[in-house]
Amino acid sequence: MFDYLIVGAGFSGAVLAERIANELNKKVIIVDKRNHIGGNAYDYYNEYGILVHKYGPHWFHTNEKKVFDYLSQFTEWRYHYHIVKTYVDGSLLPIPINMDTINELYGMNLTSPKEVQAYFDSVKLDIKVPQNSEESVLSQVGEDLYNKFFKNYTLKQWEIHPKDLAASVTARIPTRVNRDNRYFTDKYQCMPKHGYTAMFNNILNNPNISILLNTDYKNIINEIPYKTMIYTGAIDSFFDYKFGKLPYRTLRFEHETLEKTFVQPVQQINYPNDYDFTRIVEWKHATGQQSNMTTITREFSELATDSSEKYYPIPREDNQRLFEKYRDEADKLESVIFCGRLADYKYYNMDQVVARALMIFDKKIKA
Ligand code: FAD
Ligand code: UDP
Repeated sequence: MFDYLIVGAGFSGAVLAERIANELNKKVIIVDKRNHIGGNAYDYYNEYGILVHKYGPHWFHTNEKKVFDYLSQFTEWRYHYHIVKTYVDGSLLPIPINMDTINELYGMNLTSPKEVQAYFDSVKLDIKVPQNSEESVLSQVGEDLYNKFFKNYTLKQWEIHPKDLAASVTARIPTRVNRDNRYFTDKYQCMPKHGYTAMFNNILNNPNISILLNTDYKNIINEIPYKTMIYTGAIDSFFDYKFGKLPYRTLRFEHETLEKTFVQPVQQINYPNDYDFTRIVEWKHATGQQSNMTTITREFSELATDSSEKYYPIPREDNQRLFEKYRDEADKLESVIFCGRLADYKYYNMDQVVARALMIFDKKIKA
């Protein structure tokens, strides 16, 4: 008899399994339909020995000391600021948009944050409370920068006009008046020194935790005795899509390995206006791996079909309303705890997922 059956071995499932096994000394079985642990953060060494993230680039960043300290029990870190550039009008420019972006793009010579703010004030639209992703950008940097940096990237990534996407999507990217060229400004920015999969192996290394891979929980649910379920898969699938399907974006990757030490100046280059892919990642910049070969990965975004992997919930009002119908059903189930990016249908980052799993452990499980 297991105390908990956990569906999904990503951050949500693994953190809860660890907490229950370690702190409560209870028995857990964690089931994943994939052939590996780690969920979307899973990484592996490709045939050339380069460490690659299977489900797209995962750059760890957080302001939460609690999350950083918790994960630090299971990995050493490689401290590294995540740097992204974007290809606009034939140049590689800093994104988030900052003082250098403006100077390089327009051949200006702004030298103080005050001057940069004055420039943004002169071009931004007067929108007090942005209602969608287009308004969110226009209200900060105006039309030209919106058209060059955001509009087409967003169309490629979501196949939805920014006008029809929640403001929170493009609001993930700040605007800066200084020269800070880091993608994130969080206090802790780093990568697990030996990779995410190695960190997950450590999180789940506990005699109270059993792991069953290559298994859809629906196929074994009647054969494994357990008391409580923790579900981190897609919420609409749990309820057999009875209110309809929640849409997701999926990704297709094109990997290329070259006999060069590096081919890009930074770990990620975004292509808002050129090509069909959204971005190219060069892994070694972030992982710090030494090799005379390098692997780059081009990312193509598509609408998920029934058989695709689900990568991104799509933040729109109609989807949120459909999600809430499922959440109301979920709230009625006392013996199932729902948790994670797919179960909450939320565009969470890894640190938010870890923080939420720790909170659920404290408030719903331990209490
Ligand atoms: P998941 O990792 O999705 O895990 C859910 C698991 O449940 C999966 O392994 C799945 O196989 C399993 N499962 C589902 N249904 C079943 C079933 N029926 N039976 C058995 N198993 C099932 N966050 C950052 O902080 N920084 C980043 O740079 C970043 N980049 C990202 C890039 C991409 C392309 C994507 C898609 C996400 C990115 N994220 C990033 C977000 C990050 O991936 C998530 O926040 C985190 O991995 C979510 O963890 P989770 O455990 O909730 O879900
Ligand atoms: N975005 C954009 N241009 C960029 C980077 C981001 O338009 O160069 C928008 C786009 O809508 C994207 C969102 O901002 O989906 C969030 O970007 P982020 O880099 O956080 O996306 P993720 O890494 O989660 O795919």
